Amino acid sequence: MEILMTVRKIASICTMGANASALEKEIGPEQFPVNEHYFGLVNFGNTCYCNSVLQALYFCRPFREKVLAYKVQPRRKESLLACLADLFNSIATQKKKVGVIPPKKFISRLRKENELFDNYMQQDAHEFLNYLLNTIADLLQEEKSQKRQQNGKLVQNGNGEGSEGEGEGEGAKEMQQTWVHEIFQGTLTNETRCLNCEAVSSKDEDFLDLSVDVEQNTSITHCLRGFSNTETLCSEYKYYCEQCRSKQEAQKRMRVKKLPMILALHLKRFKYMDQLHRYTKLSYRVVFPLELRLFNTSGDATNPDRMYDLVAVVVHCGSGPNRGHYITIVKSHGFWLLFDDDIVESTELHPDPELYLGYDPPPPKKRRPL
Ligand SMILES: [Zn+2]
Repeated sequence: MEILMTVRKIASICTMGANASALEKEIGPEQFPVNEHYFGLVNFGNTCYCNSVLQALYFCRPFREKVLAYKVQPRRKESLLACLADLFNSIATQKKKVGVIPPKKFISRLRKENELFDNYMQQDAHEFLNYLLNTIADLLQEEKSQKRQQNGKLVQNGNGEGSEGEGEGEGAKEMQQTWVHEIFQGTLTNETRCLNCEAVSSKDEDFLDLSVDVEQNTSITHCLRGFSNTETLCSEYKYYCEQCRSKQEAQKRMRVKKLPMILALHLKRFKYMDQLHRYTKLSYRVVFPLELRLFNTSGDATNPDRMYDLVAVVVHCGSGPNRGHYITIVKSHGFWLLFDDDIVESTELHPDPELYLGYDPPPPKKRRPL
């Protein structure tokens, strides 16, 4: 496996120059988007799970802008976000329009920070996306609270009174909000209806991405519908109803209450098979639209008619969770591009995704029907 990767890499590095100029020629100097760069990322030994997710995120415009803005802020300490900001900045400031960049600093930081990624084994792209977004959010929260403490100290020194007590409730909630949440966070509402007394109880839950089950010959819309299908809780899964004060049969369904600005969907292609005692890959055909509207929204949803434009899909090629290869297909300025580690090509390929990222620009910039 390792040897195969190395041979493939040498082969791809040899054709790298040719590929780079080929893409530029193919797009044409007139059509090539201004201020856009299409750069491949060198693979450091099965790091395609990371490269593919980073490419997808680079083309999520609001995310890219925030990461680039972080780059110019006074640096507090070395972190995964700082390394990501350096990487995005080095792509965005290249003189050339196409080429290859080694994300060396980012990968070594990632390996240092999380032992899960500290090896040369294939990892799960969704797990990595999740880890990255949560790590960035934690870091931003930490920086926010440090800043607040410093300001608090200033207040304390100024008037001799502490600012304790303030910061609970609303303030605390605001503290939790970072630009990662502004971009990716949505809310689900989990409604349970008791079949005995008809009382409905609902519980809200925030998410940064949604994981949906896949079926054979289906579409993303269908998977989302399946996600929100009504489920009956009966026999040993009965629900404790507060009204009836006893366990009752109930109907449960999960719907989207707040739609995120960028919708990240994870298609659960790796399924544990009890009979086989291992995970197996569901290589099902899942059609994805270029524009996606969610139908599984709750009645009180704040922004139910968001329309998502496809940004990127991350695709797993291969048969199992511990082998195979990740690539990313991006739609950028009307061009379809395939990012396969250090290779960037234009493509017409529409394969079956594992991660789907769609973007709905927030108002007032929101598109209106003509
Ligand atoms: Zn009840």
